[in-house]
Amino acid sequence: MAKYGYLGLGIMGRGMALNLVNAGHDVVVWNRSSEKCDELVAAGATKGSSPAEVVASCDITFACVSDPEASKALVFGENGVLEGVAGGKAYVDMSTIDPGTAQTIGAAIVEAGGRYLEAPVSGSKGPAENGTLILLAAGERALFDEAEPAFSVMGKKSVFLGEVGQGARMKLVVNMIMGTMMTAFTEGMTLAEKANLSTQDLLDVLDAGAMSNPMFRGKGPLMQKESFATAFPLKHAQKDMRLALLLGDELAHGMPTVAASNEVFKKARNKGLGDSDFSSVYLASKD
Ligand code: NAP
Repeated sequence: MAKYGYLGLGIMGRGMALNLVNAGHDVVVWNRSSEKCDELVAAGATKGSSPAEVVASCDITFACVSDPEASKALVFGENGVLEGVAGGKAYVDMSTIDPGTAQTIGAAIVEAGGRYLEAPVSGSKGPAENGTLILLAAGERALFDEAEPAFSVMGKKSVFLGEVGQGARMKLVVNMIMGTMMTAFTEGMTLAEKANLSTQDLLDVLDAGAMSNPMFRGKGPLMQKESFATAFPLKHAQKDMRLALLLGDELAHGMPTVAASNEVFKKARNKGLGDSDFSSVYLASKD
């Protein structure tokens, strides 16, 4: 049985690493704020001393951190991943980052004697905890196949999309659709309120028709209560809109709807909602 490492035990990494441990795998964990390792150690994981040490002591190490800057810090920082990959160690970055950063990291890992796959995930806190994420992988095909026993514990579906960068691109396309759906939804909810319509009637009408979806069904009732416990931090949703717009810029692809939605997310961040759930963009739509 392969030995796995997991770096980054935030909302997503915690759930994925716990699932690996609970499935009986030998797992070594590391997190920048080390107290987040405690729950994993109590569940049966071993605590690593640095990203380099985890990668060097495991066959395949997974990581899920905030953004491109965090991914680069993990790899290129002191005692970082790059210092542990020699001799064919495998590294799978599951963070949502831009394709250029994924390519820079992938090339550096391979040059240092390691193996690389990107595998950003679609899904949120709940799917990370119950192992029903969708994994969008790209890079070394053989590593994708080798990682399958771990992927099948973390997700319900894994797709292989080709060269490094394609996983990041797919993830950004998916999340720009989700972000614009969310802002349209919150503008509809707040317009309904101002027009003296019942938001419950609106949710019922939406759910009965072709626009019915788990996101509206899940977030709608929470929005009614203005309950924004964090499953997907708003600051990360805005980061994904920004990175998707950057991709559009590079390809000279017009994205006026995404650009407008990004402005609403920026406004929400400036209202201090960055660490709240991304559905709290509702409060920015309300003004
Ligand atoms: P989170 O709860 O904010 O966790 C972020 C993690 O990144 C923490 O472990 C944090 O360490 C670590 N980190 C940040 N900066 C770092 C640095 N410079 N060096 C090392 N570690 C660093 O975020 P999350 O929701 O788990 O999201 C993680 C990634 O998954 C993001 O790219 C996000 O876009 C993506 N994602 C999230 C969701 C979701 O619904 N939450 C869904 C799909 C994809 P500390 O604990 O020390 O701060």
